[in-house]
Amino acid sequence: MKAKAKQNALKGLNMTKCKYCWKKADEARMTIDHKHPKIKGGQDKLKNLQCLCNDCNVEKGSHSEGELKVLWRWFLSMQKSRIKRGKNPMFKKEIREIMGLYEERINLLDKQK
Ligand SMILES: [Zn+2]
Repeated sequence: MKAKAKQNALKGLNMTKCKYCWKKADEARMTIDHKHPKIKGGQDKLKNLQCLCNDCNVEKGSHSEGELKVLWRWFLSMQKSRIKRGKNPMFKKEIREIMGLYEERINLLDKQK
């Protein structure tokens, strides 16, 4: 992003916490993400920008939010079958916690629409 566009984005964006995982700016490095990726024609306009921590931004990569939801839903269905097969209760608990996080993320994206 060009320096001027970045400055404008920083003024208009809430850069205090990550939109996906809610980590705060003092816990993680914050980045500006293009909801619709630049590589797919997304623009530097404020409504296409959001604050994500570096980890979430790397995970999102060049996916649009629609693609991300599809990926996360696929991930959740994989975890459900892992729980069905699994016998270790600790393992199941861990997987359920991870699933809860992804379900929250999907809900969050649904609410934005
Ligand atoms: Zn994050």
